[in-house]
Amino acid sequence: MSGRISVEQARDLWVNASDEEMKSLARGARAKWHEPNHATYMVMRIINYTNVCVAQCDYCAFYVLPNQEGGYVLSRKDVFAKIDDLLEVGGDLVAFNGGFNPKLPLDFYCELFAAVRERYGDRVEFYALTIAEFVYLADRANLTHAEAAARLRDAGVHWITGGGSEILTEDFRKRHAKFKYTVHEYFEAQRAIVAAGLKTTATMVIGFDETLDERLEHLQRTRDFQDETGGLFSFLCWTYKPYGTEFAGVEISPQEYWRHIALSRIFLDNVKHVRTSVLTQNADAFRALDYGADDFDLPIEDEVTQKAGATIELDLESLLAVPRSLGYTVEYRRAERPAALTA
Ligand code: SF4
Repeated sequence: MSGRISVEQARDLWVNASDEEMKSLARGARAKWHEPNHATYMVMRIINYTNVCVAQCDYCAFYVLPNQEGGYVLSRKDVFAKIDDLLEVGGDLVAFNGGFNPKLPLDFYCELFAAVRERYGDRVEFYALTIAEFVYLADRANLTHAEAAARLRDAGVHWITGGGSEILTEDFRKRHAKFKYTVHEYFEAQRAIVAAGLKTTATMVIGFDETLDERLEHLQRTRDFQDETGGLFSFLCWTYKPYGTEFAGVEISPQEYWRHIALSRIFLDNVKHVRTSVLTQNADAFRALDYGADDFDLPIEDEVTQKAGATIELDLESLLAVPRSLGYTVEYRRAERPAALTA
């Protein structure tokens, strides 16, 4: 198989190809970008600054509604303490992630991000918001996506990631997250983020009730967006954790995850990095390096997935021993700065 594959060919591969065939094709696609037995990683912390959210996604075990018991907003001091802890264990990437909290306007975030940039400079990079949060905040501030992106950029933000995308089909969103955003809004926002000179990523979550057609539509939309903008640094896929959620369900197998990573690597011929999820797959995530992934995070905290059943291993050296035992050299990498902001 050579050249770009169609959705029909991707469907055929998923249904008919053996694991060995998937691996072999994905490794061929990976070799276009990366050394065969080399992988990169980051040590990061997801800081969940608030759990108050009005979106009410049925697959989420993290949120509480406004005025419900247990809602919180982290203080600036708490945020700094978490970043200091991250630096102490050798990490330098923070991903801020919270909920759609009606009490926190865009200005709250701009002030928080400016304070983090001022205190830590380039010692820490941060993913400021997911696109889902960005859309919500821009709407509430009555700003266009371009205006909101410019405000955040001026506050020192470099990255707004594609988190919160789950499955990008309108039907999936109506079934599970009807208050979050439409797929059209999602890509409009991401277009504005790229146009503002900020960096962004693509993500995907599998293992709900999505059909194969929906997975393929998500991949097709991602590839189309990258053809149009070239703005996606990476594609990260993780798996749904069903514990404590309204939707419930059962987890998919590691094998299904690895095959999906392979299919994504083969299909997304225009995205350099395909990332595997240690957060949701633990040690099984590293096997995805054989299926085309080239990069991963070692997270030290994420309340959202931990509430839904994810477990986090804090012995980073024992985790890194796993890809090494599979024959990979692993190299720490820092988050890139946007080219336009690099002096
Ligand atoms: S997944 Fe995010 S947007 Fe949806 S309810 Fe949970 S915190 Fe809110």
